[in-house]
Amino acid sequence: MAKIFCIANQKGGVGKTTTTVNLAAGLAQIGQRVLVVDLDPQGNATMGSGIDKRKLEMTVYDVLLESASVAEARTRAEKSGYDVLGANRELAGAEVDLVALERREKRIKTAIAEVAADYDFILIDCPPSLSMLTLNGLCSAHGVIVPMQCEYFALEGLTDLVNTIKQIHANLNPDLQIIGLLRVMFDPRITLQQQVSDQLKAHFGNKVFDTVIPRNVRLAEAPSYGLPGVVFDPSSKGAQAFVEFAKEMVRRIETMR
Ligand code: ADP
Ligand code: MG
Repeated sequence: MAKIFCIANQKGGVGKTTTTVNLAAGLAQIGQRVLVVDLDPQGNATMGSGIDKRKLEMTVYDVLLESASVAEARTRAEKSGYDVLGANRELAGAEVDLVALERREKRIKTAIAEVAADYDFILIDCPPSLSMLTLNGLCSAHGVIVPMQCEYFALEGLTDLVNTIKQIHANLNPDLQIIGLLRVMFDPRITLQQQVSDQLKAHFGNKVFDTVIPRNVRLAEAPSYGLPGVVFDPSSKGAQAFVEFAKEMVRRIETMR
């Protein structure tokens, strides 16, 4: 049965999508069966996996409205090595469409349960907000992976997310926990980043992943080729870090079972 993780942080541009597609590709490379669920109307995880969001006949939007199953709407990202439940701009309307519907925060959870046996990992790329879409992601997951840059306001920004996760844990999803904070776009030459990284470890202890993702231009270039960095340039420092992170995640879920 798949372990389900949300990649979430209410800030934009912190590396959620880069983490989702590269962790997925890293996991695939070490033999794990992976589904990526794109919950962001921007569809970056879809495009970055090599699926053209404009050509999708069915997306996660249809799944949310229960007009398609995950099995019908998923696509294989051949080169990336995993399946994708894609998203495009249509998903932006879901927020409004869901308001009047029942079980609106549990739709993804219910839909994913039907395919959980097909995968080892299901990774949900969340939009940069604490919206109904993100809530659907968080209600489905066993845990949250929080990518963050080691900047001055990083810790402050975490408070809202941590409180949201606590509330969801108490009211909607007792499974939910923060699996870990992932330091991304890290540059060890910058003293401030090193300091914030030390603070993170002091505050969150073993909730900070051992793996650190460096700032690496190959990771930023890969999406324009429709590939995760791990596939686009496997020898790059960024790709190697994500494969390490995939191994760390496999070790972590062994301790969760
Ligand atoms: P989010 O999904 O949180 O909005 P993205 O994953 O799209 O964030 O990342 C924001 C930008 O930073 C993108 O242009 C991406 O290519 C770039 N980026 C992400 N991680 C790295 C990294 N480790 N090194 C260099 N660039 C990165
Ligand atoms: Mg994104």
